[in-house]
Amino acid sequence: MPALLPTAIVGSLPKPSWLAEPERLWSPWKLEGETLVEGKQDALRAVVQEQRRRGIDVLSDGEQTRQHFVTTFIEHLSGVDFEHRETVRIRDRYDADVPTVVGDVRRDHPVFVDDAAFLRTLTDQPIKWALPGPMTMVDTLADRHYGSREKLAWEFAGILNQEARELEAAGVDVIQFDEPAFNVFFDEVRDWGVAALERAAEGLRAETVVHICYGYGIKANTDWKASLGSEWRQYEQFFPLLQQSSIDTVSLEAQHSHVPVDLVELIRGKRVMLGAIDVATEQVETPEEVAAVLRDALRFVDAEKLVPSTNCGMAPLPRRVAQEKLSALAAGAAIVREELSSATA
Ligand SMILES: [Zn+2]
Repeated sequence: MPALLPTAIVGSLPKPSWLAEPERLWSPWKLEGETLVEGKQDALRAVVQEQRRRGIDVLSDGEQTRQHFVTTFIEHLSGVDFEHRETVRIRDRYDADVPTVVGDVRRDHPVFVDDAAFLRTLTDQPIKWALPGPMTMVDTLADRHYGSREKLAWEFAGILNQEARELEAAGVDVIQFDEPAFNVFFDEVRDWGVAALERAAEGLRAETVVHICYGYGIKANTDWKASLGSEWRQYEQFFPLLQQSSIDTVSLEAQHSHVPVDLVELIRGKRVMLGAIDVATEQVETPEEVAAVLRDALRFVDAEKLVPSTNCGMAPLPRRVAQEKLSALAAGAAIVREELSSATA
């Protein structure tokens, strides 16, 4: 593991085609029962090997054991009815059939802890596990019980904290909360979003990350992005709040993004997982394109605090493309690492 610019992906990777239908979100499993458990473990073995082979330093599970980054977690809680789905508008952008909260939400069993413990057995490198953030969970279901997004978020934050503490005990080094909803609901972020996030991360010794992006490369997201104008300044609304928060690391998108890179200055002092790989295109970046984004950001973040990463998850991409993007990320980081070490030599 290099002392400078350790690489890490944000989250998902494509699943093998024998496990789930590729290039699709919410893709159904092709296996069931014990065979599914074994299949998921084999998929974890494959993504660990692929990330190592291609030079990624902090290893992720690639979300191989879950169908979706939010709903799979919610599915394991009591108080949620998965049979009676309702159509809601997610992040003010697209409609989806989602589960309904019908009673007090509770985590009766760990959700990902066994999977994380298995991942731990596969490598000595640091491992990272992603969970949905409280606000993004609230935004991905229908509520017929609490009648308050804030109240429900607070319940979820407590549940996430239980899960995060057990993931940490299972050997997870980095715990990430995905909060794409922060990019949409600025008033709520200010009023209770950051507080709920801090509650979810309370008491953890593991490094904590919040990931906020402009979404997977699916049509609803690319249409939304097209409506945002030439400069995307959404991060400006809440980066100062995150800078003041207890969260260690902020994960943001920067490759092919209309985000002005100087916004990174607003989180000075935090570690920055900088997206240097675009997940919305099948075009594989050259190492030099990755290096250029990293170099640019180094004007606003100290080198010791920069983690080269992807803009978001890569689940919807063809597997070969995602794998080549891993190599491009590692190669681009290596270029800048070399420049930094020769500059100080
Ligand atoms: Zn994302």
